[in-house]
Amino acid sequence: MKSIVAIVGRPNVGKSTLFNRIVGERRAIVDDMPGVTRDRNYAVVERFDKPFILVDTGGFEPVTEDRMLQQMREQSLLAMEEADVILFLMDAKQGLTPADNEVAEMLRRVTKPVFYVVNKVDGEKIENEAAEFYALGIETLHTISAAHNRGVRDLLDEIQELL
Ligand code: GDP
Ligand code: MG
Repeated sequence: MKSIVAIVGRPNVGKSTLFNRIVGERRAIVDDMPGVTRDRNYAVVERFDKPFILVDTGGFEPVTEDRMLQQMREQSLLAMEEADVILFLMDAKQGLTPADNEVAEMLRRVTKPVFYVVNKVDGEKIENEAAEFYALGIETLHTISAAHNRGVRDLLDEIQELL
């Protein structure tokens, strides 16, 4: 059985961009608009020593803030159940949001490995700003740029060590 790695996080943080970056194809739809309907997306990633199944959570309809939070809770619970490793993606350009705090609170209860990943860290300046995410009370923060392929390989190496 291949391990399952699930990407969770708010709409528009770059989950599908990261999914495509890791899969190596433009398989998931990337969109500037938070809340375009997208299905859950699965791919078998075989180009590493330990192959795994990558899950891009999406399926957000145009929603209110309440509905968005509810869907995030559902997606996170599902990932907590079915995944072996969870990548919790956040957005350096948006900064830490109440929704991020809420999901982080849920993930604290999981005994599975959770990677706290801040995306859109495209350069040095924003790298320093990303330190605010330590307010989540986490030990390790991974900063990446899925769009510019920064930090993704290191993240994958660390994930591989846990599979
Ligand atoms: P999702 O809703 O979480 O799946 O987010 P998407 O992957 O659809 O991306 C939302 C927007 O963020 C798109 O406009 C992406 O091009 C943009 N984006 C994704 N990753 C990065 C990144 O590393 N840096 C920057 N600057 N933009 C990014
Ligand atoms: Mg998406």
